[in-house]
Parts: sequence; structure tokens; C-alpha cells
Amino acid sequence: MFKLTLKVNGQEIRPEEIADPLRKMAIEDMRTQLRQKLRNVLCPEHHQTPEVTVLFQDGKQHIQVQGCCQRVVDMTMQALLHP
Ligand SMILES: [Zn+2]
Repeated sequence: MFKLTLKVNGQEIRPEEIADPLRKMAIEDMRTQLRQKLRNVLCPEHHQTPEVTVLFQDGKQHIQVQGCCQRVVDMTMQALLHP
């Protein structure tokens, strides 16, 4: 299972700590979708899963991907862009 981190304005959050139920549901939904999309992503060379960080900054969402090498990062981006 790949590592997924959520950050709001630079602060790491955990869905179980979100008080607002609608927001919590939206975050859990997104997490499930990302897991679905990335469930098969594994570096063929290093057998590592990527680390994905979703950043919410000033109401905008950015996704950062880190991995053992560029190849797994590319595979992750591909999987994210093409469900
Ligand atoms: Zn690799």
C-alpha cells in the first residue's frame, strides 16, 4: 500500500480528526479514489510504492508524488490522470 499524506495549508491532517462530517466524507472519498487508481502502481525495478501528498492550499488542490525513481513517479502520474 502506498503512503498517502493530506495537508491543508502546510498542516498534515488525518481524516479521522476532521470535525465537519461533510468535509470528512469528501476527504475519505478522495482517499478511496486515489487508492483505487494507484493500487497497481509498483516500481518494476525497486518494488517500491510511491508516496503521494495531497495539498490543499488556499482552496486549491495539488498532488505531489515521490518515489524511489522517476519511473514510479511517472507511472503514478499516469495512473492519476487516466483512471
Ligand atoms: Zn524505482
